Amino acid sequence: MARPKGSKNVETVLEVSKPRCPDCQSTEAIVLNTTVQEYAGESDGKPFTHIVRRRMQCECGRVRIDRSLEFRTIQEQPDPSRDAPAG
Ligand SMILES: [Zn+2]
Repeated sequence: MARPKGSKNVETVLEVSKPRCPDCQSTEAIVLNTTVQEYAGESDGKPFTHIVRRRMQCECGRVRIDRSLEFRTIQEQPDPSRDAPAG
């Protein structure tokens, strides 16, 4: 489904962490797969809207799953047709 032109998405990432490989302690890894689950909650007093799981492969070959809680806001432009007088 295509997004309507002019809509603007602003994503705010609450938590940015650099997980390390438990084997070699490297932070260099490539993302194999990303799963985003819409789930609103709170962690340590900080609200989040999504749970993001990333399958990462370290440069040493180890595959791990990093889970991060992200607060994403989507700002949409107001729909001008909503202000049209009814009737
Ligand atoms: Zn590693």
